[in-house]
Amino acid sequence: MRIRYICLVVFLAAMFSIALVRTLKTLLLVYLSSGPKPICPYCGARRIRKSGAALASDRLYRFLGFCPYRCQSCFARFYCPLARQN
Ligand SMILES: [Zn+2]
Repeated sequence: MRIRYICLVVFLAAMFSIALVRTLKTLLLVYLSSGPKPICPYCGARRIRKSGAALASDRLYRFLGFCPYRCQSCFARFYCPLARQN
């Protein structure tokens, strides 16, 4: 019984850590792509376009005020604040 409890706690801690790291990574990429016009935080290219809301997390980010973009140079996907959409 006790080993199940320990396994559950370790599993939940691992899931929370993964979610936390992904959230921090997204916030860092939003910060790196900040500016008057969105740029790719991976390669710095300005050739980006809006990406369709394909992932379940896209709805959450849209609710929080972020829009998914796709870089046309390196094909990286990232989020930018909705206020910067033109
Ligand atoms: Zn790029």
